[in-house]
Amino acid sequence: MLLTHEPLIRLGFFTGVLALMAGWELLAPRRPQAIGRDLRWPSNLGIVVLDTLLLRLVFPTAAVGFALLAAERGWGLFNAVAVPEWLAVVGSVLILDLAIYLQHVLFHAVPAFWRLHRMHHADLEFDVTTGLRFHPFEILLSMGIKLAVVALLGPPAVAVLIFEVLLNATSLFNHGNVGMPAGLDRALRWIVVTPDMHRVHHSILPHETNSNFGFNLPWWDRLLGTYRAQPSAGHEAMTLGIEQFRTPRDLWLDRLLTQPFRGPASGYPINRREENADDLRRAS
Ligand SMILES: [Zn+2]
Ligand SMILES: [Zn+2]
Repeated sequence: MLLTHEPLIRLGFFTGVLALMAGWELLAPRRPQAIGRDLRWPSNLGIVVLDTLLLRLVFPTAAVGFALLAAERGWGLFNAVAVPEWLAVVGSVLILDLAIYLQHVLFHAVPAFWRLHRMHHADLEFDVTTGLRFHPFEILLSMGIKLAVVALLGPPAVAVLIFEVLLNATSLFNHGNVGMPAGLDRALRWIVVTPDMHRVHHSILPHETNSNFGFNLPWWDRLLGTYRAQPSAGHEAMTLGIEQFRTPRDLWLDRLLTQPFRGPASGYPINRREENADDLRRAS
């Protein structure tokens, strides 16, 4: 039942939230955009079609199907110990979210992984479609990691579905170029990553890029010391993107796909920090 309806449930939430956020961006944008949607949206939406097709091809049943398999075989924590269903669901959603946070830190720390993940950061604007812009290899790798977590955790399949729908919706929400009253943003930040919180993560400055790794729950950043409240230049004046890939041509789909293989990994990953400082010194 869950498995046959899973793609439709996810597609429904996805298109609904996407339309809602796109409407909000039109009515109350947070920042004026210098680069038009006509240049960015076809590539960012193209990549999500590509990612979805590739995922279905490589992992036909996805994480929900894998959770059902894990239950059948008795794999993982929650299939080994008897706990109330609600506890298994809540616990699984929390642990899956922590795993995605840690994976995001990993993608920023390891230079080879950063080459894949930086494509997400190289978007020169920040709006709802940025939340869909991930390199296919990163998508495959993170699904592999998610399946490993599911095998170890043995979460109820419905928890995995809730988590996937939630993560998809919050990723669209927290990349929105949407304005809201500062008080509302402050209040929402206690339960969900807001656009202002995640925009800090898209700053060109490495110490701001390496902050606010959460996509969904904001607690991991606060608990683990990676939280940064605001960008130093302010939300309107801050520069988005990374130091590489800053021409309009770099926003085309073909360039997005070849980005991991072009240029040095320099600048952002932890053991390349000094190199970046040298580059900056030479440039100034
Ligand atoms: Zn990132
Ligand atoms: Zn992002």
